Amino acid sequence: MPAVHGIDLDAPGRLTGAIHLTHSDNRYDNGVIPVPVAVLSGGPGPTALLVAGTHGDEYEGQVVLHRLLRETDPEQVSGRLIVLPALNLPAVRDAGRVSPLDGQNLNRCYPGRRGGGPTEQLAHAVVTELLPRADLALDLHSGGSNAHYVPSAFVYAGPEPAVWAAKRELARRMGLPWTVVVPGRFEPGSFSTAADDAGVPMISTELGGGGEVDPAVVADAVHGLRRVLEGAGILAASPGTPAAPGTRWVGLCGDGAVHTPLRGLFEPIAGLGDEVRQGDLLGRVHPVEELDRPSTPVVAPRPGVVAIVRRPPLVDLGDSLYHLAADHPADG
Ligand SMILES: [Zn+2]
Repeated sequence: MPAVHGIDLDAPGRLTGAIHLTHSDNRYDNGVIPVPVAVLSGGPGPTALLVAGTHGDEYEGQVVLHRLLRETDPEQVSGRLIVLPALNLPAVRDAGRVSPLDGQNLNRCYPGRRGGGPTEQLAHAVVTELLPRADLALDLHSGGSNAHYVPSAFVYAGPEPAVWAAKRELARRMGLPWTVVVPGRFEPGSFSTAADDAGVPMISTELGGGGEVDPAVVADAVHGLRRVLEGAGILAASPGTPAAPGTRWVGLCGDGAVHTPLRGLFEPIAGLGDEVRQGDLLGRVHPVEELDRPSTPVVAPRPGVVAIVRRPPLVDLGDSLYHLAADHPADG
């Protein structure tokens, strides 16, 4: 059984098909779950693999890829675009981070397994059918329902000098206000790790979040994606594509994660992009039921810049409230 149905990935033109996931439960007996795949192929040239909806409640990247598909003709493409705007379709349909079918986080399931659950099947199809055809790849994320991120490219360092240089160039062309560098193989089982294993230059993004769609962030990402594709020679340079703005390179600090010390109502004080010193007040947590108990201040464990802020105000012990980042050399 081919991994992608209804489509010859190597044929020219505009083609649509689906990765068929199998899963049998009360809702799905012997049917399939068709994860939509589009290919725009215009002749010789490189292939870009573009995905969003790895987490279903992260919408900005999904919008960006729908825009690209609907605003691009195959005749404009030198090479090929393989586009999956709703990669983890069950999670997208469920407006959730992970698949409701098996509770799995797709971005921890790579390289997947042919005979596994639906999320493992999906990772396996990406690794065996799509990544081997790709010269570059983008996986568009954002903060989702639980967080807001500074609009950023999100890049794993390494794995070797040529691929790392190509990733840095992708981040520069993406031109988002921030580029977050994390150590190589930061999250085992992620798309980024799978791309590194395949030797394919790949970056992610974090395009805002909150389970929302910010028009300004989407506009920046649409331009950034066009710059990436123009830089690869897949799309011709367009006068409508602005030059890449500079991006600020930062690294997430291992000691920059701030978790709530109690359950209650989170009042954020520091905002995205704020520069903070060690000990600065970032926010407060107010006990909901105990009105005679003082609120608990949340302070910066180190100096840095606020890169991630929690969204839902009701928090439970251990929930992530903030993550601080620090400047990182662009070639480090
Ligand atoms: Zn995500």
